Amino acid sequence: MEYKLTFKDYNKALKKGHLMGLKCNDCGQYTCPPKIACQECGSTNLEAVHMKGTGKVVTYTVSYVPAEGRDAEVPYTIVMVQLDEGPWLMGNLTDVDPNRVDTELIGKSVKFALKMKVIPGDAYSIGGKEAEGSFARPTFVFA
Ligand SMILES: [Zn+2]
Repeated sequence: MEYKLTFKDYNKALKKGHLMGLKCNDCGQYTCPPKIACQECGSTNLEAVHMKGTGKVVTYTVSYVPAEGRDAEVPYTIVMVQLDEGPWLMGNLTDVDPNRVDTELIGKSVKFALKMKVIPGDAYSIGGKEAEGSFARPTFVFA
């Protein structure tokens, strides 16, 4: 089976400020972050596309517990964003004070930050080894 957009390529694009996804040629829906098959219909007839990077906050949380080795980062705001193309994407919201976030955030328009921070993967997410350098995390700002 052929991967139209590997996680590695998705990550590489993120670091350059591009949000990539997959468009299904059968049902027309989008999948982001990339998966092996369309998240709507399961088809593998997919093509890699640039996502607009705009959407609305569906829910959020503030993390006060750092991943291993990332104590300096907390607290930070994690948002679940419904992209305009449909899929939900988790990322960090950077232009808000994590100590002052409240439910007013839900429904707010956000956009993928072109100038994003590249954050090293934590020990858990990279399986305890340094794989392919650092991972990029989608970062959002208010639109
Ligand atoms: Zn589909």
